[in-house]
Amino acid sequence: MNQSAPISKSSENEDVIFEVRGLKKDYDDGSVQALRGVDFRINQGEFVAIAGPSGCGKSTLLQMLGALDSPSEGTLNYRGKSLPDLADPAAYRAREIGIIFQAFHLLPTFTAVENVQLPMFETDRPASERKDHAVSLLKSVGLEHRINHFPTKLSGGERQRVAIARSLANGPSVLLADEPTGNLDSENAHHILDLLVSLHREHRMTMVLITHDPSIAARASRVIHMMDGRVISDSNPPL
Ligand code: ADP
Repeated sequence: MNQSAPISKSSENEDVIFEVRGLKKDYDDGSVQALRGVDFRINQGEFVAIAGPSGCGKSTLLQMLGALDSPSEGTLNYRGKSLPDLADPAAYRAREIGIIFQAFHLLPTFTAVENVQLPMFETDRPASERKDHAVSLLKSVGLEHRINHFPTKLSGGERQRVAIARSLANGPSVLLADEPTGNLDSENAHHILDLLVSLHREHRMTMVLITHDPSIAARASRVIHMMDGRVISDSNPPL
């Protein structure tokens, strides 16, 4: 069990969640420049879409925000702390953020309620409370009738709801979503976006949503457009 303390807020400006300056990421010894100097700031409670065509660097950027990979150059801070310098990136992912992906990434041999409990093993939450909390999260995403189902018995939309419930297990203040509706038909995509919008509104969660689809990006209150590893426009940058 991970006992490390949660990351404390920066004393300078508690509203700044992500501060990204001159961020670069090279792959293959520099022959691929996925990020070529990205700058933005995301404040607490914003709903930001990062949009742009396939290959422009969106997923690479999300990997950096999720501390799943390290930048080649630049500043990447979460609440004033440098993400590449975190002693325990797994604790950051388990406690501070939730992440959902296009492909859901549920464990196939675990039921819905077991999948949702997985992140809680990274915390001190007592075993007796884990299942009840997972059940209440599944109810909150409209899956009270699918609690003991395995992922193969769920529709795509239901699988993404389980993944969303799992991402909320430890009460993160930030949700990172990488093409969350990319594997869904338009009706299910619409419902999942509605769910994300209501999570943002009701819990004042900070949302960062990656999409290549302008109609999905339009659901966010701010759109950062990327092209060729750079930000080319930012609809509503914070002051
Ligand atoms: P997007 O999410 O916008 O489609 P990506 O961030 O996945 O873009 O990719 C940006 C660029 O980096 C692309 O040229 C892609 O081929 C390259 N790339 C991404 N990941 C890797 C990797 N692990 N190794 C080498 N090149 C990569």
